[in-house]
Amino acid sequence: MPGMTITEKILAKHAGKATTAPGENVWVDVDILMTHDVCGPGTIGIFHERFGRQAKVWDRDRVVVIPDHYIFTADDKCHRNVQILRDFVKEQGLKYYYDPEFVTNHPGMPSPYKDPTKTSYKGVCHKALPEEGHVRPGEILLGTDSHTCTAGAFGQFATGIGNTDAAFTLGTGKTWLKVPPTMKFTFQGEIPPYLTAKDLILAVIGEIGVDGATYRTMYFSGDGIRSLTLEDRMTLTNMAIEAGGKNGVCDVDEKTLEYVRARSNVPAWEVFADDPDAAYNATYEWDLSTMEPLVAKPHSPDNRDTARNCRDVKLDRAYIGSCTGGKITDMIFAANILKGNKVRIPTYVVPGSTEVHRDMKRLNLRGVERQGNEKSIEDVLADAGCLLGPSGCAACLGGPSDTFGRLNEPLLCISTTNRNFPGRMGDKKAGVYLASPLTVAASALTGYVTDPREYVTTRIDTGLAGVA
Ligand code: SF4
Repeated sequence: MPGMTITEKILAKHAGKATTAPGENVWVDVDILMTHDVCGPGTIGIFHERFGRQAKVWDRDRVVVIPDHYIFTADDKCHRNVQILRDFVKEQGLKYYYDPEFVTNHPGMPSPYKDPTKTSYKGVCHKALPEEGHVRPGEILLGTDSHTCTAGAFGQFATGIGNTDAAFTLGTGKTWLKVPPTMKFTFQGEIPPYLTAKDLILAVIGEIGVDGATYRTMYFSGDGIRSLTLEDRMTLTNMAIEAGGKNGVCDVDEKTLEYVRARSNVPAWEVFADDPDAAYNATYEWDLSTMEPLVAKPHSPDNRDTARNCRDVKLDRAYIGSCTGGKITDMIFAANILKGNKVRIPTYVVPGSTEVHRDMKRLNLRGVERQGNEKSIEDVLADAGCLLGPSGCAACLGGPSDTFGRLNEPLLCISTTNRNFPGRMGDKKAGVYLASPLTVAASALTGYVTDPREYVTTRIDTGLAGVA
């Protein structure tokens, strides 16, 4: 019998077995179940219907509820969804709920939080989960959102599930999984200053296609991955689902351990690594020194091209945000290109979480606490003419027509988000180029798709940003 991969080991442990192999069906114990304002109400409805109106969730400390999608809108149906979450949290006595307290019964657009450090609201669930200590190596995290795979960057098994499966887990603490085979993607070398993890994942998806990893684990390995910040690794695992992956996973190292120990109040968890003789379904390898900044052209994340080849594409808008590209290191990458310059096209900036928003105010361009009159990341972006919104999913998913940054017309936008299918960010005739925060910022300055090598020559230091 060959050795096992990280994913196989995690699933074996949670199934109470010594070993598992791809294709085997296993019942596993779930560590954390997360839901949000879009899928939470449906999940709660099924839970009540199937387990009974008086039923209790399997463990009130293992259910995490994070409203994040349709928050800053006047749409009262969206406000009602938040109220359904509140009622359920109260009914069940759930410990972990991050309320947007500014969403009230009053009609109209809620006023955004005034100070990101003084709100219980956290912003996008996939960014908030590790920040609030709900992500740990070796565990199983399920979420009613396809980008739950983001947390695989911390060496855990994390995947998105539907409302019915989530309702079952709410009632039982278990789920039934087929063990996925693992595809290994190795990156050699050190990440150059003009690339981010977004370029790496666009290279992968462009190579294998949007169904190239269907129901498989995408394991990102090599010294190139070790050279990435934890936040950049989250960009890789976040987009595993864009290739159909069941989950994405990275090795655990000191960066991971330091972050998790500082954030989580659960002392015991296990770190797994692939056995030297683990079997892979497929292997791919890249040398980072030979890679170029990439984009995914409309209308698919696998429609890969180089930013250089697209330099004649005239843009209407730029967007920096989401769980993929709205982290604090993404903001630092963008701000270092935009500093002292003015954007040529409307450029919307949405922090991925209220912690990111806090750090945009707190840190300087090198990711360290700003001193005296030194400009913050937020100051630099505002000075460049960017339009700054409150944290949340915002226009990444389109949303109601009053959503900040939504493409309400057939515009051409370059974005740090993860999906560019027709209508994803609003108008069905709009076009979205997916790119790294470096490429999006460089393009915002010219109004055309622009290779960031025109602006970046030396490594952009992100300091302690996004670290414990
Ligand atoms: S930011 Fe976008 S991709 Fe991420 S959870 Fe929200 S809608 Fe989904």
